[in-house]
Amino acid sequence: MPNTYQWRPEQGIFNIKPYPIAFPKDQIKNREATMWRYKEALPFQDSEVYSSITLGEGLTPLVRLDHREPNILVKMDYLMPTGSFKDRGAAVLIAKAKEMGVSTVVADSSGNAGTSIAGYCARAKIGCHIYVPESTSERKLSQIKAHGAEVHKISGTREETAQAAKEAVESKGLFYASHVYNPFFYEGTKTFAFEIWEQLNFTVPDSLILPVGNGTLLLGAFIGFKNLKDAGVISKLPRIIGVQAEPCAPITRAYHCQARMEPITNIGTQAEGIAIANPARGEQVLSAIKETNGTIITAPEANIESARRELAQKGFYVEPTTAATYAAYKEHQSKVVKENEVVIMSLCGSGLKK
Ligand SMILES: *Cc1c(COP(=O)(O)O)cnc(C)c1O
Repeated sequence: MPNTYQWRPEQGIFNIKPYPIAFPKDQIKNREATMWRYKEALPFQDSEVYSSITLGEGLTPLVRLDHREPNILVKMDYLMPTGSFKDRGAAVLIAKAKEMGVSTVVADSSGNAGTSIAGYCARAKIGCHIYVPESTSERKLSQIKAHGAEVHKISGTREETAQAAKEAVESKGLFYASHVYNPFFYEGTKTFAFEIWEQLNFTVPDSLILPVGNGTLLLGAFIGFKNLKDAGVISKLPRIIGVQAEPCAPITRAYHCQARMEPITNIGTQAEGIAIANPARGEQVLSAIKETNGTIITAPEANIESARRELAQKGFYVEPTTAATYAAYKEHQSKVVKENEVVIMSLCGSGLKK
């Protein structure tokens, strides 16, 4: 495993070495209702550090979208401590940083990842610098600042923001707590899969409908179901159906053109949380989707707001990025899922942020 302490740009993305993983069901069922109940499948030797920084993240509700469609379930990750699924990844990544004795981290984000990293750094008493694009919503910025992180607003694109963060990492020798590059983030997001497996009474759903910008949830879900399969507790993987925003869909384009992923220009979308023009793990996302016989679809921009209202009228108050997942599902439902399939859709960003 490369040294996760001092990330270098030439290192790019990296993955962690496989380690022994187990799922002792009877013990799991009796543990606290957090994602740490799957501790034999998480990369920690002992529980001391993560126990000191946990905010009780995980085991979010899995409920019916609508009583008329009993097989369509939503995973309510927007109820996480900082309001998005990113807490799964940040809890593991910052616990690792703490274990390694890191004192200050740098991260870049269009909002939720930064908030989450800032929250867990506050909890762990680690210094935190968050680089955000100037366009980031005020509510997200004030949430990041409330946790005591220093916010650096960068004028320009999401990519330029990432570049500024990388330069700070290099010039100051700081720990890059990147949800995109650092593999420990995915060791946290994979708990999404473990919870679904347990909540479905230790079975596998047919399909997952997941947003994809950088793919931290999608790849986490993929890794999690692979862990379960490799451990022999399930025998098939669910089909993974990714969702991108129509105005910013580089992975969708590559998938349908059967080509390598090329960066595109984001022409603007309300689904800012998935507007990633050049996702570093794009090829990994493509292979995960293919390996599960999944596909990737887009959310029509014009339907995002109405999808958001419709979800709210079912009781789910989510941000526009999350509404895009539902908008895409509604648009492509008949083509991508069969009747009576068990489908899980992720609702992973809180509407209170924007
Ligand atoms: C981060 C985020 C996404 C996209 O996740 P990626 O890792 O970029 O694929 C989607 N929805 C919400 C609410 C998010 O916070």
